[in-house]
This record gives sequence, C-alpha cells and structure tokens, in this order.
Amino acid sequence: IVAAYLKRIDTIDKKVRSFVHLEPELLLKKAQKINTNTPLLGLPIAIKDNICVKGAFTTCGSKILKNFKPFYNATVIDKLEQEGALIMGKVNMDEFAFGSSCETSCYGPTHNPWDLNRAPGGSSGGSAACVSARLAPWALGSDTGGSIRQPASLCGVTGLKPTYGRVSRYGLIAFASSLDQIGPLTQDVKDSALLMNIISGYDQKDSTSVNTDVPDYLKNLSGKISGLKIGVPKEYLNTKGIDEDVKKRILESIKLLEKLGAASQEISLPHTEYAVATYYIVAPSEASSNLARFDGVQYGLRVNQGKATDPSPLIDMYMKTRGEGFGLEAKRRIILGTYALSSGYYDAYYLKALKVRTKILEDFNNAFKKVDAIITPTSPTGAFKLGERLDEPLAMYASDIFTISANLAGIPALSVPCGFTKAHLPIGLQILGKPFDEQMLFKIANAYQENSDWHKQKPNLL
Ligand code: GLN
Repeated sequence: IVAAYLKRIDTIDKKVRSFVHLEPELLLKKAQKINTNTPLLGLPIAIKDNICVKGAFTTCGSKILKNFKPFYNATVIDKLEQEGALIMGKVNMDEFAFGSSCETSCYGPTHNPWDLNRAPGGSSGGSAACVSARLAPWALGSDTGGSIRQPASLCGVTGLKPTYGRVSRYGLIAFASSLDQIGPLTQDVKDSALLMNIISGYDQKDSTSVNTDVPDYLKNLSGKISGLKIGVPKEYLNTKGIDEDVKKRILESIKLLEKLGAASQEISLPHTEYAVATYYIVAPSEASSNLARFDGVQYGLRVNQGKATDPSPLIDMYMKTRGEGFGLEAKRRIILGTYALSSGYYDAYYLKALKVRTKILEDFNNAFKKVDAIITPTSPTGAFKLGERLDEPLAMYASDIFTISANLAGIPALSVPCGFTKAHLPIGLQILGKPFDEQMLFKIANAYQENSDWHKQKPNLL
C-alpha cells in the first residue's frame, strides 16, 4: 500500500505539492517492519506540518522553524502508532496556520486538485489536497478558525473540528490555544469516525483536554435520523458574497435530510456578524504571545548573534531572527495581537472581544435548546484562484465567515462534500453540534453520505 501511494505521489504531487517532508526510502523500510497485527494494519497517514513527530521535520511551513525536529511525539501521533498507523510524512500549511489558502507557507502554495490554478484552502491545505488527490488515505489537520473544514470543503473531502478539549493538543505547535483543535480529514464520515475513536480522549499532558468518556463513534454511526431537528440560521444563507450555487446546494441537501426524516426549522444566531472581528482580535492576540518563544534561542533559525561590540547583541539577534524568520502574514498577526494586548488597549480590544465571544456562545446555547444540530455552508464560495486574495487580507479573512463561530464557541463542526459549483468546484455542507456531540454530526453526515455520492467524486489528475 505504501509503495502504491509513493508511486502516485511521485507523479501527481509534482502538480499538487501537498507533501513538504517525505522520505520514501525510510518509509518503505518502516512499512516492511510494521506490525500488521494491529487495528490499522500499518495504513499510512499524512500529518500537518505543525504536529510534532519525533525526529521528523516539524516546521509549521515557516522559515523560522526550518530544520526543527522535535524530540517527542504529539499525543495523537503516539495514539495512532499504538494502533498500527504509519506516519507518512508532513503536509503543507499556511505559515503557523495563519491563512485560508495555503499560500503563506515558506515552501510555496499547494494546488487544489480540482483546478490546479486554484487554492486548496487553508490552513490545512496540504492535508485536504493529499486526501482529495488520493495521495494518502487520510490526514490530520488542525482547526483554529476553520482550517480543517474550509480546505475540506474546497477540496471535496470530509473534515471534522472536534469539540475543544476532545482531542489532546499536546505536541500541536500552538497558534491560538483557546481555539486550536486537531482533527481528521478523510474521504468519508466512516473514516473520520474511525480516526476519532483513536485520537480522542483525556490526556494528562494537556490540561485543556476533557475527561469524559469517548463513545465508539464507528459503532453508533448508522441509524435513522427521523425525528431529528435541524436548525438553519437565517444569518448565514443571506450573507453578502455567498455564491448562489453554494446556497442552492445547501438548500437541496437540507431537502434530502428532510426526506430521510429530519425536520428543519429557521433559527437565529444574532451575533454572527461579529464573529470575524472577534476572532481576528482573539486569535492574533494568543498567537502573538505563543510565537514569542521563537526568538533564535531555543528553536530553529538563528540569524547573526551580533558582535560583542554591538550596543545590544542579544536584541539585535532577536530582531534579525524574527525579521528574517517570519513571513508577512505572521508579522501582521504578531503586530495586531501585540497591539490588542498592550496596556491601554487590552480593555478596548481583547477584553471586549472576549465579551462578544460569550455572546456568540450564548447564541449557540439558545439554539441547541431547540435543535439537535445546525446546518450552514462551510465556505461562502468554491475554491478561489491562487494569488487572488493574497494581497487583500480582509477578503482572505472573509473566507472564514461560516467556520469561525464554532471555534469561538468550542463546539464540534463537520464539513462534508455536498455538490459542485458551475465551474465544477466542490461545495461543503457544515453541520454543527452541541459540545461533545460529535456522534450526532457523524450520524447525520453518514445518513447523507449513504444517500448521495458527492464524497465519492474524485478529481481527474492524470
Ligand atoms: N483562516 C483562519 C486564520 O487565518 C483560520 C486558520 C486556522 O484555523 N488555523 O486565522
């Protein structure tokens, strides 16, 4: 199996460019030695470049972490290996997961397998593209504001952001610690449930992981959805800039779920319009603090230690290392976050954003008193052209309009393929649920996939 994937990567990844660290010979050797008397039988999995794998490059798509090899595994990697998974290699991402297009990586962009001139989405663009192009059976990504779901939607694969606290973040290089979650990108819901069985659960090494039972997601996957109540927030489908094809496919998907016995009703999430602004205060604030550790002392790149005769050789080294090591978007986030947290502005920006975050959470709490799950589009449009939004940060941030609220509220959210635009670009349907109710999302999405074949469509890359 590994040899077959490597062969396909050899021809197709020249066009898609999803893998950034892959050692074919070493991988084949490892495959020969793997214990196949395990549940996963040695199946390979691609890993986003911000999840630590012992002794393997883990660079967050950033020049500042070039050559960084951690000396420990993320908990999710240990768990996968215990079940017999083979870690294939690292896949591309926006630098430090800042972005929605996979273009801010120091390795250059990944290309969308459905149209190589377009972006795969981001930041887990490499994870989504490699699964979509069938270069890996499945992948792990991370989602801080949509980074699993938006690329899953744009590449036509299934992507889950679990509830905050469901999956250990130990060994995930932090972007925004109150929002980050690791999750699976797969071809269908069954694979997603299988991976969640493996990676979920409390971890002593992550104090934000929650000590509640993990159900057997796979065992409870099928089943009738009749009687379930689905909420359709009125604020989402009337958003400015939403593509008509996206809207149409979401409405038709809701009709299919109704045919299967679910009942839909309009609901309101009144603070939706503030989600993007709130996120772009909270996330950069946490990022600016998390990224302070990359200063040339302990990890990765160090530029010019400065001469002993310099007035301040240490400060000089910090400035040069960070100046050369970080890309433009990372610098923008660090500056925004540092400003929002600085004394005098903290109350006006960061604290205010936290208050609005609570309002957004209350919207969901109220909605879930009435419905079992909420349905929205994942992204307002299909994949956009590479380069199209790179110089317009606000246009790029607008791609996250439907995905960000789930991170702010900490709730689980799943994206499944639900059709194509006129230009034959995949569209994603997003299902949001109550905290720790991933099971409900899987059940609805599995019923959807058993009665449609959008998730079986493959891009033609030969
Ligand atoms: N696109 C969002 C951002 O740039 C989300 C990224 C993410 O989820 N890592 O912050």
